[in-house]
Amino acid sequence: MRMGLTGLCILFVLTSCGNMQYREPARETFLAMDTFMTFTVYGENAEEALAEAKEQVLGLEKLWSVTDTESEIYAVNHSEGRPVEISRATEELVAFALKMAAETDGALEPTIYPVLTAWGFTTGEYRIPSEEALAALLGRTGYEKAVLTEGGICLPEGMMLDLGAVGKGYAGDLLAELLAEEGVTSALLDIGGNIQAIGRKPDGTEWKVGLRAPYSDAVFGSLMVSDAAVVTSGAYERYFTGEDGKQYGHIIDPDTGYPVENGLLSVTVAAREGKLCDALSTALYVMGAEKAVNFWRERQDFDMILVTEDERVLLTEGIEERFSLDKAYQDWTKEVIKVGQRE
Ligand code: ADP
Ligand code: MG
Repeated sequence: MRMGLTGLCILFVLTSCGNMQYREPARETFLAMDTFMTFTVYGENAEEALAEAKEQVLGLEKLWSVTDTESEIYAVNHSEGRPVEISRATEELVAFALKMAAETDGALEPTIYPVLTAWGFTTGEYRIPSEEALAALLGRTGYEKAVLTEGGICLPEGMMLDLGAVGKGYAGDLLAELLAEEGVTSALLDIGGNIQAIGRKPDGTEWKVGLRAPYSDAVFGSLMVSDAAVVTSGAYERYFTGEDGKQYGHIIDPDTGYPVENGLLSVTVAAREGKLCDALSTALYVMGAEKAVNFWRERQDFDMILVTEDERVLLTEGIEERFSLDKAYQDWTKEVIKVGQRE
């Protein structure tokens, strides 16, 4: 799967040592799914649980990589219209991605890969495709055309799946489940910038997740969470500057085939499930602020923080108390989105 090389949109996690009666955590940073991951696990069984979690994520990468010729997604993408057998984990992920594509009215488009390739985001050989090329490639996208059967999938010839926008989030959920089974009650997983928090810090307080300011290494604010995922999408994670001097980001508007450009710099979603956060952070980024706010009002099964080009931070009322703007960013305008209010 094509994952953000610099997916570390959430730059760091501030963890205080807390109560010294607790043992040092097990911690490991490694490369998987085309990004860096850091797992921090507390408790008696920490080392073993961490090793199992790492093994699991490497196993999922093997299933979902778009480039690994042995992966299930590679087999699907080179099936030339024939049905392909897939494992339970892949089936669930694809089913979820297709469901979210429908619920977001195609803002999340798991079949966008041919278009992404034309822009060079899959190889790093960036270019601006012609309008004609994009129009032709858009004909090879459309989540409605993927047919999922029990244990298998059939994708029309020329179409390709890219689970890059949801895979890390889904992996976070599976890892949280695994760690719980291992008896872990306190852990923090940084899955290439996706944060999955298991329980609370060993001292009983919540985790403080730092949110990275777009196009910067600084942190503009932080969010307190427990038993939750926090996921950010933004063009600044991967982009190139075209010969026309414009910046083109890696999240594509499936209606036009062009990188999203709608006044949003980043979207952070917080909810219990990593897969929901991941799918929505990408989809809401595609939708833009106004549609994203309406979408939230209709569903309210997640919280979000939107950062706009004109330095506004829009956050849903559920996390108002949990979010704080960093000192250096006090001049940004904070606006709370409420259920009842209408603009
Ligand atoms: P990241 O994985 O970089 O942290 P996202 O979760 O937002 O960030 O996923 C972005 C990735 O999803 C892109 O790199 C690309 O592989 C894929 N993608 C781009 N546009 C879309 C889209 N509209 N719908 C679904 N996937 C997309
Ligand atoms: Mg995403």
